[in-house]
Amino acid sequence: MKYLSTRDENVRIDSSYAITKGISEEGGLFIPESIPRLTADELTALRGESYAGRAKNILSRYLTDFTADELDSCVKGAYSDNFTSKKIAPLVFVRDGLNILELFKGPTCAFKDMALQILPRFLTVASKKAAGGTGIVILVATSGDTGKAALEGFKDVENTRILVFYPSDGVSPMQKLQMCTQEGGNVAVSAIKGNFDDAQTGVKSIFTNPVIIKRLAENNLAFSSANSINWGRLAPQIVYYISAYCDMVEGGKIKQGDKINICVPTGNFGNILAAYYAKEMGLPVNKLICASNSNSVLTDFLTTGTYDRNRKFYTTISPSMDILISSNLERLLYHLAGSEKVKEWMAQLKAEGKYTVDGETLAKIKELFAAGFCDDDATKATIAKTFREDGYLCDTHTAVAVTVYENYRAQTGDETETVIASTASPFKFSRAVLEAVEGKESDLDEFEMVGRLAEITGLECPAPLANLKDKKVRFTGCCSKDNMDEVVFNMLGI
Ligand SMILES: *Cc1c(COP(=O)(O)O)cnc(C)c1O
Repeated sequence: MKYLSTRDENVRIDSSYAITKGISEEGGLFIPESIPRLTADELTALRGESYAGRAKNILSRYLTDFTADELDSCVKGAYSDNFTSKKIAPLVFVRDGLNILELFKGPTCAFKDMALQILPRFLTVASKKAAGGTGIVILVATSGDTGKAALEGFKDVENTRILVFYPSDGVSPMQKLQMCTQEGGNVAVSAIKGNFDDAQTGVKSIFTNPVIIKRLAENNLAFSSANSINWGRLAPQIVYYISAYCDMVEGGKIKQGDKINICVPTGNFGNILAAYYAKEMGLPVNKLICASNSNSVLTDFLTTGTYDRNRKFYTTISPSMDILISSNLERLLYHLAGSEKVKEWMAQLKAEGKYTVDGETLAKIKELFAAGFCDDDATKATIAKTFREDGYLCDTHTAVAVTVYENYRAQTGDETETVIASTASPFKFSRAVLEAVEGKESDLDEFEMVGRLAEITGLECPAPLANLKDKKVRFTGCCSKDNMDEVVFNMLGI
């Protein structure tokens, strides 16, 4: 399996190179030259496997330059007792139609662990193959959860350094504390004055700046990316949708071959794109439902064909989805329309902040996707209602997806069994979740709120969050978006 660039089909590289490089030189993203098919029999056979077994099977179809032993050690190391559920990504049958795929059982209590527990293992293997032992520098722009998950995944991994930038006012107190208390000898964290898009734009421009790249090379270092543009992040995310389908059949919710819907709370379009790949592999999927918060740029795009980032930016109670530039969308556009059109649209996005796809592409999009958004009030109402009526407590991001799913079902009458990706523990966003459940504002501090939420719901706060209270804050720096490169040089000591 070779990988091409969304902006240059003449690029033909191995997966290890795609994973080590992160992004293609001309700014495109790496995509597989074809999407491997999973036959009905192969899907049936996966039902008998553990999560790690399912992962190895799916990943072996994409990372063909990894040996079976290499993949085996990657999946077994990534998906074991570092997750608090033996199933790794358990599926909860909440009520008819509504099934919640809990992707937050890893060490940082958000779905980013599903990919970031395995990416450092891929990179260690891949860099030996592709980069001849050059030191890897991981730069991350985070809207909250990626940063911590990447730090946790890369801490003390040999031959790597990791530096995370987060928007100073764009993350929850728990997310900030998780990052600023990070342990490990190869890690650093800095706030930046600005929002997530500023952080992401800054990281992207450092990444592609030839002067900076040269300075790194002189020190035997090279950048790589742990952001969701890295193929090594996307591939492992395909696995849990296929795994969820197996569990739907095992649990008697559907028969083998029946179609499901998949509904995903979306920001950078990574998680839902993985569901698209699963569908294209042959997983029986009816609609992919893309759920957004008030930053509804994707809802507009998927329903009208016009992507327009020139709009008000909202800070919401689902901060990991406060994004106006959804990088991974470029991959979908490539698969639907090819590299010439992608180049044209991305140039327009850069110059004018907007583009409109042609009618043929829009028709394909509408065939695949449904889309919707909801505001903070609707999100809180759903948290309260789902807890009251179904006894299930969801976090704010998951609640956006549940709301959009319910609206979709009411509008279309489509009663297909639906898998909702649940992307974070409710304890990670305790204020909003507690206020939703109690129906009033809270004046407690972060850890008192966690305690109160545990008390009234009877759930236990996951240990990695509860333990933060006693951890030492190591990182307090905040830079402007114009001196992020200085922070990089300082951290690396070059
Ligand atoms: C990152 C994140 C999302 C958005 O995922 P994308 O892959 O960027 O679409 C949603 N919810 C949570 C909790 C997240 O951390």
